[in-house]
Amino acid sequence: MNHNVGWGLIGASNIAREWMIGAIRAQPGNSVVAVMSSNAARGAAFAASNGIAASYTSVADLLADPAVDAVYISTTNELHAQQAIAAAAAGKHVLCEKPLALTIADGHAIIDACRQAGVVLGTNHHLRNGASHRAIRALVQEGAIGQPLFARVFHAVKLPENLQGWRVNNPAAGAGVILDITVHDVDTLRFILDAEPVEAIAMTPRSTLATELIEDGVMAVLRFGNGVLAQLHDAFTVEYAGTGIEIHGSAGSIVGRNVMTQQPIGEVVLRDSKGEHVIAIEHTNLYDHALASFNEAIKGASSPAATGEDGLRALAAALAVLESSRTGKSVLVAV
Ligand code: NDP
Repeated sequence: MNHNVGWGLIGASNIAREWMIGAIRAQPGNSVVAVMSSNAARGAAFAASNGIAASYTSVADLLADPAVDAVYISTTNELHAQQAIAAAAAGKHVLCEKPLALTIADGHAIIDACRQAGVVLGTNHHLRNGASHRAIRALVQEGAIGQPLFARVFHAVKLPENLQGWRVNNPAAGAGVILDITVHDVDTLRFILDAEPVEAIAMTPRSTLATELIEDGVMAVLRFGNGVLAQLHDAFTVEYAGTGIEIHGSAGSIVGRNVMTQQPIGEVVLRDSKGEHVIAIEHTNLYDHALASFNEAIKGASSPAATGEDGLRALAAALAVLESSRTGKSVLVAV
């Protein structure tokens, strides 16, 4: 069967340019047919430099383009909900960046709108598409570490200078490290542990990069429904910490290094009573994997790698972390 998907990009963003346009074009029959930017000149320049035929300044115009079958939303975070709902109403499939929305109510509204319209909804949590995280999940599922008891996530990085805009200075855009990075940690842990976070406690430091009242670092603990305690360290402000994830169980530990990244890199080691085993990983582009699974979902074969529900649950835990950091109290995760 002929399977062509024309994509409209909502947002002339860095992530679209760096990763997603290539990932879309890597899928058979997929093409990028249009881009929407609120700024006509920037949109036209983005379209020209990326070989995109049409550029629009309104979401409605992009959605009215019959060549658009699906949209990829990568605007600033406060716009995701209204744009996703509009796309669903126009009958377009929706791949939305994280955080799916800024509130639980908006997350539900996106999911409901896509369900009612009968379109596919995915959240672009890329990490679960990584071969390293898929290998870690498989090890946990096959019982390689016995009962999982603890997890530690190291995701403290230096925010690149070209990204030091709305993330660190615009609260209305859904700024801060928790909605940017913690939300990814949560999704990755949910994927690996097959469990839901139920409670969060967190502290943030005095910001040194972000403006006052926007957190640029956090240390948090999440309790999962299966009893696992997960410790998260996320930041925009440290350059040399390195990233990683560890899952510690009753019979072994899994240590992933350099795996909390967009790049298809990193190492995974299993330690148990027989010693240390390096796990063979065949790395592939994470975003290509996400797009391939989205295409399968459009064909009706499966769900996207991360669904709307996954996006909502990651958002809910991130919001609990945020609330805890502000109130000093532990917060139950409410979906
Ligand atoms: P950008 O800052 O590059 O783009 C966001 C919006 O900012 C664009 O939609 C654009 O508006 C506007 N913009 C872009 N460049 C300029 C400029 N030079 N001057 C003024 N405005 C500009 O965002 P990111 O690519 O960093 O992030 C976009 C979304 O993707 C966010 O939701 C983020 O959380 C998510 N993200 C996800 C990642 C992942 O791996 N899953 C990685 C990185 C980001 P307009 O469209 O109107 O032109």
